[in-house]
Amino acid sequence: MENQLFKPGERIAIGASGGKDSTVLAYVLSELNRRHNYGLDLFLLSVDEGITGYRDDSLETVKRNELQYGLPLKIVSYKDLYGWTMDEIVKMIGLKNNCTFCGVFRRQALDRGAALLKVDKVATGHNADDIAETVLLNILRGDIARLSRCTSITTGEDGPIPRCKPFKYTYEKEIVMYAYFKKLDYFSTECIYSPNAYRGFAREFIKDLERIRPRAILDIIKSGENFRISTSTKMPEQGTCERCGYISSQKWCKACVLLEGLNRGLPKLGIGRSRGLNSDVKKDIKQGGGTESIESKQCGSLDF
Ligand code: SF4
Repeated sequence: MENQLFKPGERIAIGASGGKDSTVLAYVLSELNRRHNYGLDLFLLSVDEGITGYRDDSLETVKRNELQYGLPLKIVSYKDLYGWTMDEIVKMIGLKNNCTFCGVFRRQALDRGAALLKVDKVATGHNADDIAETVLLNILRGDIARLSRCTSITTGEDGPIPRCKPFKYTYEKEIVMYAYFKKLDYFSTECIYSPNAYRGFAREFIKDLERIRPRAILDIIKSGENFRISTSTKMPEQGTCERCGYISSQKWCKACVLLEGLNRGLPKLGIGRSRGLNSDVKKDIKQGGGTESIESKQCGSLDF
């Protein structure tokens, strides 16, 4: 209510992975919508990365949630959108950088699914721990542009489909307990390709802090909110990808650069290791999106 996340009559897609965060979000939103007449049209939106033994199982949970909460479900798959499953990508690139591909593709897949559903907004299950981690990561890598927006409860209001994070101030532990005591049906297995996925040090650091002083998580978010970016700092300009039309600050969006690498059999193209490539390819990619390293993102909830 305070942040005016939703307006009556809006169509809202809930990014649903089958995990605890998005399951609790779907449950709470549908419950509040029913009890307090929010007047929202709610949908579940899932992304199928094509990971056998993980996503196929978690999608079964989402399909059950569809019936349990009476929310229509839309699934978009990497195979349909990009022509590759994560299983095929990992077969080609191995277990290094797989989450880079997956994170970039997922972000765009969620937007494309939201466009198909014609929703006004996407709600994701990011919790306070996730956001505190992101603040720390953006400080560590000096990403001023992301640092300035990563604590916003609603982002992308200037784009076609804004996103909001209703659990911005909710501790992960609260969500786990809620799901447990409400006996919600969620999926808690980690991705089989996950060894490199978690934001490693930042996550461990946050958990260590929490053990000493739980409030540290909310304090980090508060600090993130209070950063002021100097007006003379040059920020990347948002444009659109010349290839697919997705938002991008480069000529090609990151998904197109990564996809180009995969399709050419040179998967390292988009992840900053272009040494040894012929000059035409280097030139194309340089024009097409830069070769800067792309940070691996946390997985689990369908977000970022
Ligand atoms: Fe994708 Fe997450 Fe698995 Fe990494 S851990 S491959 S980001 S689903």
